Parts: sequence; structure tokens; C-alpha cells
Amino acid sequence: MASSQLFIASQSTVALLQPSHILASISKSNLHRMNSSSQESQTWSSSDPADSVDARKRLNIWPLDDDNAKLLDEVHPKSWPNTKEDTVYDLIAIGAGAGGLVSSRQVARRGGRSVMISAHLAGGDCLNVGCVPSKALIRSARMIREVRKAQSHPEFGVQIGGSVDVDFNAIMQRMRKLRAEIAPVDGHERGKDIGVDVFQGFGRFVDESTIEVVPSSGDEDPIRLKFKKAAICTGGRATIPDNIPGLKKAPYTTNETLFNLGKLPNHMVILGSGVVALEMAQVFATYGSKVTVLVRSDTLFPRSDPDAGPYLQKSLEESSNVEFVKLAKLQNVETLRDADGDDLPLMKLSISANGEEMEIESDCLLVAAGRTPNVENLNLEAANVDFDVKQGILVDDLSKSVSNPNVFSVGDCTAGVPRLTHMSGEMAKVVVNNAIFDDDWKLSSLVVPACMYTEPEFASVGDVTGDNESVDIYTASLEHIDRAILDGDREGYVKIFCKKGTGTIVGCSLIAGRAGELINEVTLAMKHNIPLEGIGRNIHCYPTTGDAVMGCGLQLINSKWKRLD
Ligand SMILES: Cc1cc2nc3c(=O)[nH]c(=O)nc-3n(C[C@H](O)[C@H](O)[C@H](O)COP(=O)(O)OP(=O)(O)OC[C@H]3O[C@@H](n4cnc5c(N)ncnc54)[C@H](O)[C@@H]3O)c2cc1C
Repeated sequence: MASSQLFIASQSTVALLQPSHILASISKSNLHRMNSSSQESQTWSSSDPADSVDARKRLNIWPLDDDNAKLLDEVHPKSWPNTKEDTVYDLIAIGAGAGGLVSSRQVARRGGRSVMISAHLAGGDCLNVGCVPSKALIRSARMIREVRKAQSHPEFGVQIGGSVDVDFNAIMQRMRKLRAEIAPVDGHERGKDIGVDVFQGFGRFVDESTIEVVPSSGDEDPIRLKFKKAAICTGGRATIPDNIPGLKKAPYTTNETLFNLGKLPNHMVILGSGVVALEMAQVFATYGSKVTVLVRSDTLFPRSDPDAGPYLQKSLEESSNVEFVKLAKLQNVETLRDADGDDLPLMKLSISANGEEMEIESDCLLVAAGRTPNVENLNLEAANVDFDVKQGILVDDLSKSVSNPNVFSVGDCTAGVPRLTHMSGEMAKVVVNNAIFDDDWKLSSLVVPACMYTEPEFASVGDVTGDNESVDIYTASLEHIDRAILDGDREGYVKIFCKKGTGTIVGCSLIAGRAGELINEVTLAMKHNIPLEGIGRNIHCYPTTGDAVMGCGLQLINSKWKRLD
């Protein structure tokens, strides 16, 4: 198979997660096994070409260097004994991302018998193709911007001679090394040590109390497991719009393949303008790619704090040269050249934007236009579990299936919940308590912050859409915060939204260098009903950017001061 076809073939998690796909690809690896010597290694080897092909085709991981081999040994061992106990399990988790890992392990730690079924890579999106690799790339980009800033701001007193060169391969290598270093925590061995029966294969329901594992090693028969409770933790995948001519067949990239890039794109076009899109836009623009973001509406984050979108757009344009095309519609994708090994493909993109037509030649089209839950092929009908193919598993406030009281849903595959790693982890705890210990911990009681790790970061919690008519808004700009002044980094603001006429916090929107750290204080306050005065009375270390958060509280306190006049 030509490598360009490999690139295309590796786009779809749906394909990867289908039992037939697993069986087909596995029979190829068995073939390899039969052809190779009897001493074939039980671990992934960077020096075995057959392993490289297998990792790339079946698991979407390349290059198979030592770090990626180490990663796979943890999260998808080449050989894994699927050992079944003759028992009715307290909980079976289908899926091995944050949701599956936390739910199955917590049950085992609390004395129950649990199973985790992993079809692809344990650690799910977060470890393999999400939070972890993206934040490693973000760190390198931040360092590059810092060095450039030192060059362009001699007042800092750092003299850097010559040009600042970016070594893309070194950046990707660092990412792979760190990902492999983090992997053991999510690995199969760790789960087994905790007491979880880990199965490698595709999980699907047989009936309302039975799940079948189609093992990844095609030489085993499907294994049937009985459960008292089941947790569907199958996550999601990038949505590929089906109404754009030429897109489906084009060698586009998603988060599943982005972190395998062996070359820095010349011109990256990003379809979508959410968190993943903007993080990667700034990263690749900083590395030196021209980056164009296609924004569907006329502003970034149209359903969030109305000040945030314009603020962030200006910041990303000025600091990183990211180009935004608003009201953009990708009309057609023509493939001019397929990818070949590490050589990138070439596509001609026809775009209409606000009545104007334009064409862009791009060697990397990143599709980041939303997420689709993995709910197909689970045979949910057999288990009487209601779902919506676009939204996910339909659950009540206890995260329990609306149609089968013994089945629960955790994380990105669930309808109507924020799609974040910490949400999946927290939902797993909710589900273990409700499913196994008969608790009534409600999803509606969770206060879930979110952060986009651009520079500056954008974090929010609660409802940040209100205006001065509907809520009281307390604002502090970082312009006047001593720490921001001293750091030479005055971009950003804090906005705290309170119920009208009270200090009850309903939301917070925060743009700052470390907004993701700052938002946690407000989340804690909201979770424990601490009013804004409480934040104002919370003594903050001086000088910190947190002074801006405290400042919002002080505005409210000071507005009620006793006065002498
Ligand atoms: C580029 C990117 C960056 C991100 N950055 C962040 C971030 O910084 N912070 C943050 O909070 N979130 C981030 N996210 C979101 C985060 O990755 C997800 O919310 C999180 O991974 C969801 O966890 P999960 O367990 O619900 O699903 P997943 O991580 O998707 O895990 C699902 C698992 O189930 C397996 N599976 C599916 N079907 C089956 C089956 N039938 N049988 C067996 N196994 C199956 C899959 O192989 C996978 O391992 C990011 C996402 C992306 C794409």
C-alpha cells in the first residue's frame, strides 16, 4: 500500500474501532508472526520494520522510535493475556481513556471486581493524541516566543545573538519522550497491579447483562463477560463534515495524526476555531508555518464571554501571526498530491467568506470542527441503551442510561457534558459511587472549569454570557496588576459574574498567562458557595496575578464600605 494511502487510511477512529477492522488488521500481524522467527519479540521494537508498519496502520502511531515503542508497550502491548475470571463483575468499563481508567480502577481499589476493555490505546485521547502531546508542543512554542521576546525587548537585558531557529524534529521528539514517560500511569500493567482485569480488544454488548470482547490478538475467540453494572467510556473522535466535496477522500489531518507529523507544514489551514484549533494554530504559527483559521461565525467563541473572542483573536494575530477568515465556508477540497512518507500532501481549498471566494494551497488541513461520540458498533440496542449518534449516550442526572438502569456513561461519549479530561475523571467517580454504592451524586452538582492553553490562556467556569442588565460583572484588567507589569506580560483580564444584587458567583472568564491556574480558586468558591466577598477576603501572596481575582472581590467589598462623609 502506498504511504499516501496509509495516511488516508489512518484517519478514522471509527474504522479503527470496528471489530472487522481489528480482525482484518490482526490477521495481518498474525501473518507476520507466522513468517517471522519463533523468537519474535513480545515488545514493540523500533528496529523491526514489521512493527513500524503495524503501529502505523493499526494504531495510528508513527514513527516507531524507541519512545513510541515504549509508549505502545504500556498502552497497547503487543501481546496481552486476556484473563477472564468466572464471576459476575461489579463493573465493566468499555474504553480505556480517563473515564475507563478511573472507573475500573476505583472499583478495584474499593474492593470490587472490575474490568477495563481497551480497543486501541489506553490513556485514550488525552495521553496519546490530546492533552499530553498538545501541551508538550505548546511548551516549546512558549519557549520560542520567550526567546524572541528577549531579542525584541533588550530592556530585559538578555542578549541573544543570531537567529532563533526552530528544530521541529527535536520538538516532536521531546513530545514523544515525555508522552512515553507519562504512559505507565495509564498502562495495562498498572491497571492489573491495582486489581483490574484488563482486556485488550473491542467491547460490545451482547444483552442487558453481558459484554463481549473481540480480542486484539486475532487468534482468540470473543470472550463473554457478565456484569452487574457497566460503564460506557468510549470517548469521541474528530467530526469530519460530510457536506464538503473532496474532503472525505483528501489527506486531511486530525488530532489522531497531527502528533505524528515528520515535517513542519508550510501552510496549515484549520477547519474550526475551538480550543483544539486555536491551541494548534498558535503553536504551528510560532514554529514558522503560515496558519489560516477558518471561523464559521463572525467571532471566536460566540457562546462564551462576548469580550473573549475579539480579545483572543487580536492577541493571536499580533503575537503569533495567526490569520483568521471569518464567516468562512470550506466549499471544496482538491487533492493535488498525496502524502508520501514524511513528505506532506498538497490540497487546493476553495473557501467562501462573507461573499468573497478564495483559494488556498495547503500542505496540512487540520480538521478540528467538533467531536463525535463513539457510540456506533457497541450493539447498544441489545442492551436497551438509548443514544443519539451526534450527542452520545443519553443519561439522567446520575449519569445512568435513561433506558437501562444497570448501564452508565462516562466522559466524551455522553450526551450534553463538557468534553474534558477532568470531566471524564470526575464523572467516573460519580458513576462508581452511584452504580456500585447506590449514591445519588448528581452531574448537575459539578462545577467544571475549562481552559484553552494558548498564550495568553483563556479559562472559564459557569455562565459567562450575561451582560450588565442580567448580572453584576466585576472586572480587573491585568494592565494594573503589579506582577503582570513586572513580568512584562500585561495581557488579559478577570471577569467575575454574580447574580444580580448579590455576591453569589455564577461564572468567571479569565484571560491571563496562567488563567488555568487562576480559575481554580473561583471554581472552589462556586463549588462551596463562597460568595465573591470570600475571594476578596482571601489573602493573596503579593505580587501574584491572582491579585486580579482578589481585586474583583475587593470591588464588591469596597462598594459596601462604611464611610465618614
Ligand atoms: C488535541 C486535543 C487536546 C486536548 N486537550 C485537553 C486538555 O488540555 N485538557 C482537557 O481537559 N481535555 C483536553 N482534551 C479533551 C480530552 O482529551 C478528552 O475530553 C478526554 O480524553 C476524554 O476522555 P474519555 O475517557 O471520555 O474518552 P477517550 O479519551 O476518547 O477514551 C476513550 C477510549 O475508549 C476506547 N474505546 C472506544 N470504543 C471502544 C470499544 N468498543 N471497546 C473498547 N475500547 C473502546 C478508545 O480506544 C479510547 O481509548 C483534548 C482533546 C484533544 C483532541
